[in-house]
Amino acid sequence: MLALDLHDVTKTYRGRVQALRGVSISVREGEIFGLLGPNGAGKSTLVKIVMTVVRPTSARGTVLGAPVGTQDVLERVGYLPEHHRFPPYLTGRQVVDFFGALCKVPRAVRRPRTDALLGLVGMRDWADRRVTTYSKGMQQRIGIATALINDPRLVVLDEPTDGVDPVGRREIRDMLLRIRAEGRTVLVNSHLLSEVEMVADRVAIISKGTTIAQGSIDELTRDSHRFEIEASGGPESLPLAGSMVAGRESPDRPGLRTYVVPTREAADAQPAIDALRAAGAVIVRVERARETLEDLFVRSVVDEHGRSVPGAARP
Ligand code: ADP
Repeated sequence: MLALDLHDVTKTYRGRVQALRGVSISVREGEIFGLLGPNGAGKSTLVKIVMTVVRPTSARGTVLGAPVGTQDVLERVGYLPEHHRFPPYLTGRQVVDFFGALCKVPRAVRRPRTDALLGLVGMRDWADRRVTTYSKGMQQRIGIATALINDPRLVVLDEPTDGVDPVGRREIRDMLLRIRAEGRTVLVNSHLLSEVEMVADRVAIISKGTTIAQGSIDELTRDSHRFEIEASGGPESLPLAGSMVAGRESPDRPGLRTYVVPTREAADAQPAIDALRAAGAVIVRVERARETLEDLFVRSVVDEHGRSVPGAARP
């Protein structure tokens, strides 16, 4: 089943801002799905439509099987909004408990679940301090715990690693994997592409209110699979399968060239290696490579608009 199945979602805000111009995404149950796009692409608007905070101008599709816009389904959805704020006089434990109460989780269930979640997000030792004493990373962990307190099937996290240091970001990534291991679906909105690349099963790239690419990272970068062969003393170009593969000379090491064979099959790279060896070259490195999510993202966003979009290539 699809956790989210949205078609042709449009939203024109008052003041005539066309935030969404026909976005479609399908999120499978049990996967981590990354929603990517430059600032202003419409990601938060889409998330808010799923959360019924914003009413779409038009939309078809379902959220956990119910028509989009159905509020009852939110009982089974967890949500960490972007730029959230917690009541400053509460401790981390109290915040998680408070959100549980808002979600009508019975007290007897809330207590042990809060404790388990504080463990999951690594906040047990800090749980009884006020949230104002927390770093950004600790606030995000508590935020993730609040998003899980109602035992949701679908967890929607808007920029969960925003403002978090590298160690904290890695820990949040591990949390996402644990949440998935529990059988939940995760929709994560992030501009940190390399991070999404590490955990997401599938992604959608949104730009200017439309979906411009969707699929697993492997699918989306399929055509870019290649073998890079680095060799010293090889020819300027190699004849291979009826075409010539040019060797790119290393700027700082004359005589060292990299030959790129566009294939995902190791067998297809062997003739190039044989030809280089026959020519007396010394193979220095053979590596399987493909486009990164960032390459794909920048290419998609540039292709779509004929120019790069500000913020698109932010690492
Ligand atoms: P993202 O999350 O991808 O950065 P948003 O969904 O926040 O994008 O914004 C998409 C577009 O809609 C932007 O041009 C933004 O200025 C506009 N927008 C967002 N919220 C509102 C609102 N409440 N009223 C008017 N325009 C809005």
